[in-house]
Amino acid sequence: MDFSRSEALHSEASEVLVGGVSSGFRKSITPLQYFERADGPYYYDVDGNDFVEYTLAWGPLIVGSNHPDINAAVRAQLETSYTLGAQHKLEIELAQKMVGAVPGIDQVIFSNTGSEAVQATLRIARATTGRDKIVRFSGHYHGWFNNVLISMDENGNAAAMCGGQPEKEYEDTLVLPWNDLDALTKLLQSQGDEIACVITEPILVNSGSCMPQDGFLAGLIELCRAHGALSIFDEVITGFRVALGGAREYFDLQPDLSVYAKAMAGGFTMSAVGGHRGVFDALRDGRTVHYGTYNGSSHNLAAAIATIDILSHPGTYERMHGHGNAIRERLEAKAHEHGHQLVTSGVGTAFSMHFDLEELPIRHADTLAANKEKFAAFRRNMLENNVLILPDARWYISAVHTDKELEHTLAAIDAGMAAI
Ligand code: PMP
Repeated sequence: MDFSRSEALHSEASEVLVGGVSSGFRKSITPLQYFERADGPYYYDVDGNDFVEYTLAWGPLIVGSNHPDINAAVRAQLETSYTLGAQHKLEIELAQKMVGAVPGIDQVIFSNTGSEAVQATLRIARATTGRDKIVRFSGHYHGWFNNVLISMDENGNAAAMCGGQPEKEYEDTLVLPWNDLDALTKLLQSQGDEIACVITEPILVNSGSCMPQDGFLAGLIELCRAHGALSIFDEVITGFRVALGGAREYFDLQPDLSVYAKAMAGGFTMSAVGGHRGVFDALRDGRTVHYGTYNGSSHNLAAAIATIDILSHPGTYERMHGHGNAIRERLEAKAHEHGHQLVTSGVGTAFSMHFDLEELPIRHADTLAANKEKFAAFRRNMLENNVLILPDARWYISAVHTDKELEHTLAAIDAGMAAI
């Protein structure tokens, strides 16, 4: 497959755009493709190649690209306003939709990105509790700001992920292994009165789509309540993806706060924090603040409302999960047929594949033993067969992947597993 035009554009871009990319995550992807157009579940690159695509732009494109309902809603909105820096009726409509769709959410606030919305939850938790420490888990991603872009070093201490992160900016961030209720219990027993909140991805999609162990999330919420800390689900990925009501609906659990972004606006720039009414007291009474010039921009609100309407059609999530599960089954069956060990973890609409793992991973550390070279060869082969998947072995399914794309994808998997 020819990628020469993409390569030429990357060289040209690198002269004027740092690293030739707009997000550092993208710079190590090979081949580094430039895309011209996207339509439904397809991406079209500048070399004339087209792909059934399962990256969904790292999650947002839950109803694909160029969706007529989103286009119509956004176009209509553009005629009247883009952004006002003031109030708009669609803010109420979107908030009402979220409150109606997501269990246990009475109120929301709007931001633009997942990173920002996460910061809003941390600030609310600190202002509410009067405590400074926050707890997060190893391998989880909560955005790129200094207090959360943290890994765990060999002694179990928080460590910076990159340069430019002064220790004092994350000294109140405690990192624990995930899916380990004993570790959380011990920490809360010893330092509970200093801990403002515990934040978790409810499914660890960012590190191999590990599922929570039975009772882990419920235990986390309980422990937080017992120690006066807020529980936070970072649903930037799982929100509107694993169910219309996200992980709250999927697991029937209600933490204090949940963060939404990505899928909620179908590719437009929108994020939100939701929770029960009382958890926002600190914002209402002015103990803390939440700001943003672009918060609640009208065209993004219109996109989010259209996206949630599309996702609300009966049967949407069953179809998406079914599509993903059919892919998972074929991946595992064909891998084994060709003598490869493979497990897939996660749920139908968001899952990861792991070559050479014998068991389902339950935390980030377990995923490190997966055979990345084999996956890279498989991914390249899928690309050659016109199927695009993310470089970290994660698959996202959209509401516009149909049986036609499934058939193409299953055939590509057969070819890919035979070739590696
Ligand atoms: N939280 C999670 C769970 C995420 O996956 C991401 C983005 N991948 C973020 C937060 C940050 O969101 P954004 O990139 O919109 O700032």
